[in-house]
Amino acid sequence: MNSIQNITVLGSTGSIGVSTLDVLKRHPDRYRAFALTANTSLETLFAQVIEFCPRYAVMRDEPLAEQLRNRLQQAGSDTEVLAGTEGLVAVSCQQEVDQVMAAIVGAAGLLPTMAAVRAGKRVLLANKEALVMSGQIFMTAVKQSGAELLPIDSEHNAIFQCMPSDYAGGLAEKGVSRILLTGSGGPFRDLPLDQLESVTPDQACAHPNWSMGRKISVDSATMMNKGLEFIEACWLFSANPEQVDVVVHPQSVIHSMVQYVDGSVLAQMGNPDMRTPIAYGLGWPQRVDSGVGPLDLIKVAQLDFQAPDEVRFPCLRLAREAMQAGRTASVVLNAANEEAVAAFLDGNLSFSAIPTVIEQVLERITLVDAVDIDTILRADEEARIMARGLLRSLNR
Ligand code: NAD
Ligand code: MG
Repeated sequence: MNSIQNITVLGSTGSIGVSTLDVLKRHPDRYRAFALTANTSLETLFAQVIEFCPRYAVMRDEPLAEQLRNRLQQAGSDTEVLAGTEGLVAVSCQQEVDQVMAAIVGAAGLLPTMAAVRAGKRVLLANKEALVMSGQIFMTAVKQSGAELLPIDSEHNAIFQCMPSDYAGGLAEKGVSRILLTGSGGPFRDLPLDQLESVTPDQACAHPNWSMGRKISVDSATMMNKGLEFIEACWLFSANPEQVDVVVHPQSVIHSMVQYVDGSVLAQMGNPDMRTPIAYGLGWPQRVDSGVGPLDLIKVAQLDFQAPDEVRFPCLRLAREAMQAGRTASVVLNAANEEAVAAFLDGNLSFSAIPTVIEQVLERITLVDAVDIDTILRADEEARIMARGLLRSLNR
């Protein structure tokens, strides 16, 4: 591909979005921002539009879109401003778009990401919640449309890099025996258990190795992030749950590993900076500069590994059980988690009650077969209503 590629960045004002724009900026001869989108961060999106001059910008709703439109008009920009899910879907599947970075956080990313998949785009998948919710439907749509799915989550990007080519035919046939999914264990790995109850949102968001959005930072602290990634790995690599092991690795230098039947273990290493997987996805199968400095192994000095502690981190068990239960269990897990994390971030739920809320919703709700996206969205809504009810009763 020699011509300049058009890139839609869904969630361009977030942590992954900003890192993506940083990589794009290094390669003006290869990539152009086609559409940039935000939820409510009008000022940030305005500045990005002025800098990157995309064809489209999308805001969460029409009133915000109108505000951005007026600001841009005054600034002499000719970027067209769209609104809502409709706008997000439009900029994900337009014919001129070559690649879509799916970096909206949470279930809100599902419809635009699916639109990009169905339109057969190269999809750079950071929005793990979309895949966790729609697993089979998502992967079937990738196959049917011929979309190129490149994992951006650092672990899955690492696994992708360590996989044999053409692993889609089956892991065992290609000599893969296990996927070793690494995780740092988050900021509370060694905190005395009785102190977990009273940790604050700011403590939970202060991740030792990665700088990320607040929702995924809390997920890392509860290890629900690793749970969602476990489900993500099963779908991306057609792996049985028994073929994926979680390994705690506090330094976050190894981003994950693949073990082969001959005893070989391949690892991908690097500094913990999301621009590496982002550049890998954009450039694949070529390698392009990401702006990330070389790994200094002498400075790292030591790589540690531990088994995950499922008593401290029940979310990991809940995610594995949801994957095994199938049907809409992962949709419910994700929705209840999003509601519980939002309540924790708002100061309305203690940290250690996050898994309790999720487990209770999973116990009470009736699962159905996840036959299509509408069914998934209904299950998502039902689980949120139940979670909010539980949260209200806990606060009474
Ligand atoms: P973030 O909170 O920093 O950014 C989220 C982006 O999505 C923002 O641009 C925001 O405006 C937009 N957004 C939020 N809610 C929206 C809604 N309802 N409708 C439309 N847009 C909305 O999050 P992040 O850390 O960049 O993470 C984004 C996704 O990438 C998440 O799914 C996360 O799990 C995944 N991810 C992030 C990292 C990381 O290092 N940050 C690593 C791996 C995977
Ligand atoms: Mg990750």
